[in-house]
Amino acid sequence: MPILGFFSRAPRAIWAGLVLLALVPGPVSGNLFAAGPASGRQPASRPPSTVKLGGIGYIDARAQFAQLGYKAAYRPDSGVLTLRSGASEVVFTVGSREARLNGLRLFLGEPAQAHKGAPYVATIDLERFILPILRPSRVSRKPIRTIVIDAVHGGNDSGTRNQARKLNEKTFTLDVAKRLQTLLAGGPWQVRMTRTDDRFIELSDRAEFANNAKADLFISIHFNAVAAGSDVRGTETYVLTPQFQRSTSSAKSGPEDKVAYPGNRHDARSAVLGYHMHRQLLAKLKSEDRGYKRARFAVLRLVDSPGVLVEAGYLSNDGEAAKIANAGYRGDIAEALFAAVQAYDASLGAPPTKP
Ligand SMILES: [Zn+2]
Repeated sequence: MPILGFFSRAPRAIWAGLVLLALVPGPVSGNLFAAGPASGRQPASRPPSTVKLGGIGYIDARAQFAQLGYKAAYRPDSGVLTLRSGASEVVFTVGSREARLNGLRLFLGEPAQAHKGAPYVATIDLERFILPILRPSRVSRKPIRTIVIDAVHGGNDSGTRNQARKLNEKTFTLDVAKRLQTLLAGGPWQVRMTRTDDRFIELSDRAEFANNAKADLFISIHFNAVAAGSDVRGTETYVLTPQFQRSTSSAKSGPEDKVAYPGNRHDARSAVLGYHMHRQLLAKLKSEDRGYKRARFAVLRLVDSPGVLVEAGYLSNDGEAAKIANAGYRGDIAEALFAAVQAYDASLGAPPTKP
C-alpha cells in the first residue's frame, strides 16, 4: 500500500518549489495538441467547442478527436463514445470517470458529460492524460540518464501482509527492485536504489534521494492488500494527479487539488510512463486490470521527474499471493517494468530545440 505521507516532512527546498509552482497561472490554456494537423490529414474546419460544466472546462470530444484523425461512433442511448484511428481505440462513457484506451482501464479526473446531445470530456483530462498517451511524439523527450528504483517499505514497516502465508510486502518490493536493477544495468543509464537492504526510509527522504540523484525517472514498487479473504486482486498503476484535478479516489474536488507539486512539472511524461507500465504489467502477468489511476502519493508529489507507482498485485488475495511468492512471477514483474521503461523512452518526441 502506498502512503500519502506528511507535508511537514518536506524539505525546505521542496517547499520553495511548491510556492513557485503555485504562482503558475491557470490549469489549461489552449489545446497544445491541436496545434497542427495529424500527419497527412487536414484539420477539421471548426475548432472543438468548449464549455464549463459544473465549473470545469469541457471540450467537444468528437470534434477534438476528428482533428487528430479519429473516427467517432456515439450512442446517445448508452452514452458510449468510441473513437478509432488505426490500431488506437478510446472509449468514453457519459456519466463515468472510467475510460478505455487500447483495451486498458483508465480513470479520468471528471466524468465524460453530454452537452446539447454531444459527448464532452474534461479538457484537462485530455491535455494532461489522454492526449500525451495517444501522441507521445508530441511530448518532448528528456534524455534518461538516471533511473531511481524505489523498493518501498522496509525495516519496521513491513507494508501489507498475507498473515496466513507469512508474506510481507517489503520483502517482495526489494526483490523486484533488485531484479529490475539487474535488467536496467545493461542499459545506457545509471540505476540508483532508494534501499538495497531491509531498512526503513521516510517517504520524503526517498524523494530527496531521487532529487539529489537528479533522477530522470522514478519507479516505486508496491504490493497491495485489502481485508483477508477478499476476492479483490489485480494490478493498479498510479501517476501523480495533475493540478486542478481530483484524484481517482476522491468523490469531489477540494482545496488540495489546487496545489502544484514538483512532480506536476512532468505530468505529460508521467502519463506516458504510467500507460506503458500498466500495459506491460497486464500483458506479462495476465492479471486483472484494476485500472490506471491518479493519486497524490508523497513520493510522486515530491520527486522532480516523471514518476510512477505500481501496485503489482494483492497479497491479501490467496491466489495472487501464491504467485507473488514465486520468484519466476516476480521476475515477470521486473521484466514488465523494464519493457515499459524501454517503450516509454522510445515513444517520446525530440527534445525541445533551443533558438
Ligand atoms: Zn506499499
